[in-house]
Amino acid sequence: MDNCPRCGKLFIKNVRGICQNCIKEIEIEYERCVKHIRENKGIHMHELSEATGVSVKQITTFIREGRISIANAPNMTYPCEVCGIPIRDGHMCDSCRTRLTKDLHQAVRESSNQDQSNNMGSGTYSAIDKLRGK
Ligand SMILES: [Zn+2]
Ligand SMILES: [Zn+2]
Repeated sequence: MDNCPRCGKLFIKNVRGICQNCIKEIEIEYERCVKHIRENKGIHMHELSEATGVSVKQITTFIREGRISIANAPNMTYPCEVCGIPIRDGHMCDSCRTRLTKDLHQAVRESSNQDQSNNMGSGTYSAIDKLRGK
């Protein structure tokens, strides 16, 4: 038995990680959001949240899971996971993605620099060994 992270009630663990009651409620929220977007294609995220009573966080989860498509709702956005600016695609905005990629490259470059200095070190050692061998 576990406490449901959504409602706090005890439940038997399952793949969704939340209790049956919450799964049912989320399905109802999902249906409500889908219907509302279909009928109001120009809707914004906060308007959808207000109209349906579903939290922005939950709607964002639906979109990230690919369950709700915002391709036909041009005003729908959700916050970037890193900086929170509105995005329509992926988990983070372009600038965060660029920065993250740069950081990654930096990390790779730094570790390869370390490898080089290690190689130089062992190269020096083997040169010394050769000298000693003579
Ligand atoms: Zn629950
Ligand atoms: Zn960002």
